[in-house]
Amino acid sequence: MLQSGCAECKVYVCRTGHLEEAPETCPMCLTGVVDTRATYSAEPVRQMARVSAQIEAAGYTRWNRVEETIELANRLGYKRLGLAFCSGLREEARILNRILVANGFDVVSVACKTGSIPKEELGLADVEKVRPGTYEAMCNPVGQARVMNEAQTDLNIVFGLCVGHDSLFIKHSEALVTCLVAKDRALAHNPIGGVYCAWGYYHDRLYGGHRQP
Ligand code: SF4
Repeated sequence: MLQSGCAECKVYVCRTGHLEEAPETCPMCLTGVVDTRATYSAEPVRQMARVSAQIEAAGYTRWNRVEETIELANRLGYKRLGLAFCSGLREEARILNRILVANGFDVVSVACKTGSIPKEELGLADVEKVRPGTYEAMCNPVGQARVMNEAQTDLNIVFGLCVGHDSLFIKHSEALVTCLVAKDRALAHNPIGGVYCAWGYYHDRLYGGHRQP
């Protein structure tokens, strides 16, 4: 049974403006909920939304995500960037740090293991570690966010934080957050690969045995 919602829409009239053809389940039928003009009329939301849209058009299919992130920060006049990285991507984080510095930014980079709090303090048993029998520090996204809040960063970049840890980082960051790398250890940090292959290689794993037409 398919759930209703935008993902199952057949008309996408929100893209064309022919709103009279919107289906009954369309969020636009919820009067006032998706009409967010009042929110976008106030700064800093207005500026972020406007500049994001300008970048979308200016570099469409040409600028990669690193370039877009730099462009976003430049156009917004941001000088201090937070780089919240996974320690498993420390080599890549060093490269990005140098790229950002070369582009004139002041970078506050913080690794996920900062604080070095043992996983046992979260209630994890030794067998639940990645490598049982060894010292494993928990990822500390709240700590990463706190360092960046203290440094009053203008924009924070998620760089390969684990699923869930990224949620905590975003929740605790005072600055707006953008994701540059979404962690996916199985697919070279290219999580949409799982979706692209859901019709075939990953079908049974992802649909839990519910065969799709
Ligand atoms: S907003 Fe309405 S028209 Fe647009 S995709 Fe969702 S259901 Fe379809």
